[in-house]
Amino acid sequence: MRSIRLKNIEKSFHGELILENINLTIPEGKFFALLGPSGCGKTTILRLIAGFESPDHGSIMLGDTDITHVPINKRRINTVFQNYALFPHMDVFNNVAYSLKLKKIHPDIIQQKVIKILKSVRLEHQMYKSINQLSGGQQQRVALARAIINEPEVLLLDEPLAALDVKLREQMLIELMDLQETLRTTFVYITHDQTEALTLADQMAIMNYDGRIEQIGSPREIYEFPISSFVAQFVGKMNLFKGTIKIGTGKVTFIEETNLGEFEVASFARSPWMIEGAHVLMGVRPEKIWIGKKLETNFTNHLAGKVESIVYHGPATQYNVRLKNGVRIEVFEQNEEHFPKEKIDYDDEVYLHWQKENAVLLER
Ligand code: ATP
Repeated sequence: MRSIRLKNIEKSFHGELILENINLTIPEGKFFALLGPSGCGKTTILRLIAGFESPDHGSIMLGDTDITHVPINKRRINTVFQNYALFPHMDVFNNVAYSLKLKKIHPDIIQQKVIKILKSVRLEHQMYKSINQLSGGQQQRVALARAIINEPEVLLLDEPLAALDVKLREQMLIELMDLQETLRTTFVYITHDQTEALTLADQMAIMNYDGRIEQIGSPREIYEFPISSFVAQFVGKMNLFKGTIKIGTGKVTFIEETNLGEFEVASFARSPWMIEGAHVLMGVRPEKIWIGKKLETNFTNHLAGKVESIVYHGPATQYNVRLKNGVRIEVFEQNEEHFPKEKIDYDDEVYLHWQKENAVLLER
């Protein structure tokens, strides 16, 4: 397994710029997710890495080797597609054995290898079934087995779970993580589903609508410290306030522009744009807000509002609270039996509280 590096990649189709100056390092042996809205160019990046497309500018490195112009079959990179692309007229065994047979490997070795791989994806008992006798999840596992039988250095996965129902997708997510841990192959997984990316990835990159990468980091870094309002809203939910920065001695505060008040923000990373008077956004995640009818003074920040609607989600309850400036704020609260809370109803006057560490400043 080796790392992949995309350097200054640019790609246009029919004069339309799709990817602009993509610089990306995918570490070896890790699960890397590429997340972005539909049409932003994720599949194009995958096709460039696989060799189905060539970049207009820039280079692609596999470890220390420049593979920009290396043909597909010489790259030791395999792809699992959304539609599996299996051979419907062959059974499971032959689907998986196909590429080994092409290489004229001895039948005994093929038998051993296929059985070993089918065991790793829990399909050893379905070996002689035809593809159309399998469920969607089983077909997906055949596609995975077929992609890893050649021991590729990199496995590219293009929304491989999109066709599965929610329950099966959750199960396959865990199986994929286990498989990656066992194989230690570099996995590059593309998706527009933030939950999938957050669950699976060691590292992830977020692409925006313009085909540029906005942020690269661990799922935790991306979720807790998004660097732009796009990332903040694309990965999870974020309440956003407009205002300006005030820098006091040892303290950064945010002055909301419709007179909601002044709020303290713990700024972990001082970016060059974080200067006195800069017009910025303050973001607070819905689950970081504590809602109550009484004002709690042990929180750094608070705001008053009125409950407009309550949505029960099972594990959590969502409160939609209207502030005096007309803005609607979302609050999520875990439904915990251990810490029963006061009952909050529609139309209740409430306070929203959060700590300064739970607010982020974003460029506007
Ligand atoms: P999705 O999540 O919907 O699959 P994506 O992020 O994977 O989208 P791409 O499939 O990479 O996006 O497509 C990015 C853009 O490039 C789209 O506007 C698409 O129409 C265009 N595109 C991709 N391949 C080609 C091609 N071969 N010829 C012309 N345009 C293309």
